[in-house]
Amino acid sequence: MDVKSGLIFQLVDLRPEGVCLRGQISFADLDIQEEDRFSYPNPLEYDLLLTPLGQNSVLLRGTLQARIAIICDRCNCPGELLLQVDDVCHQYKDAFGKVLDLTPDIREDILIIFPQHCLCREDCRGLCLQCGENLNVSSCTCDSAAEDLPAAAESQSDPWQGLDKLKLS
Ligand SMILES: [Zn+2]
Ligand SMILES: [Zn+2]
Repeated sequence: MDVKSGLIFQLVDLRPEGVCLRGQISFADLDIQEEDRFSYPNPLEYDLLLTPLGQNSVLLRGTLQARIAIICDRCNCPGELLLQVDDVCHQYKDAFGKVLDLTPDIREDILIIFPQHCLCREDCRGLCLQCGENLNVSSCTCDSAAEDLPAAAESQSDPWQGLDKLKLS
């Protein structure tokens, strides 16, 4: 598959069954910049279906996926992350006879699922706070008490909570 420079179509006619759009687009062409913790060795893969909707509208549905490179927030090691959008859905009115640029919407769809924090793996053990050893790779001889933070006593349910519901408002 070739990497397209954009998802731009001159929409003249569309059969009722629509048209499949499958391919790849680079993050550069999506105008998504590399950041400290994100880079894009692979293009975004799209699998979309464009169908006519009513008089002069079209409906775009489908999926997106991309494997991006990350730097782990916890251990600072490189890792990768699969970004997946399963419910692309956009509608374009007065679409026929015009140039239809899907790029901005696809860009938004993928940007919105970028994580705030990324880990190389879910159970990344991070670096030892004392010696800096990567605890995923090996263990160190530091006091193990410093290794794991005690499980936070998360908001324990208020024993009186149930009573509030009994009150008449
Ligand atoms: Zn990590
Ligand atoms: Zn250590």
